[in-house]
Parts: sequence; C-alpha cells; structure tokens
Amino acid sequence: MEATLLACPKCKRAVKVRKRLLLVLPNGDKYLYVCPDCGSTCGETIETPPPIAR
Ligand SMILES: [Zn+2]
Repeated sequence: MEATLLACPKCKRAVKVRKRLLLVLPNGDKYLYVCPDCGSTCGETIETPPPIAR
C-alpha cells in the first residue's frame, strides 16, 4: 500500500491521504485523495491504464 503525503486544507498540515476510487473513465480511473483525519478531499488523480499491446 502506497502512502501519499498531501497538504490537507482543513488540518493545515501534510497528512497521509487515503486513495479512493471515484469514477471509472474511458481514459482511466479517477481517484480522490482523502484526509484520514477529517475526511476532506486533498487532491485527485486520474490513473491511465497501461497501453494494451496489440
Ligand atoms: Zn484533514
């Protein structure tokens, strides 16, 4: 399990955010980074799947 440090806007400090799957998009999966202490969203990312070799 990867631990990502992000600044939480509510806690005003860097927290080890949890990654939560939000949406599955055609171009990748969208994740939210959530603060484990207050539950605020600290950021988001879209992970594109590795290209499939054809
Ligand atoms: Zn927080």
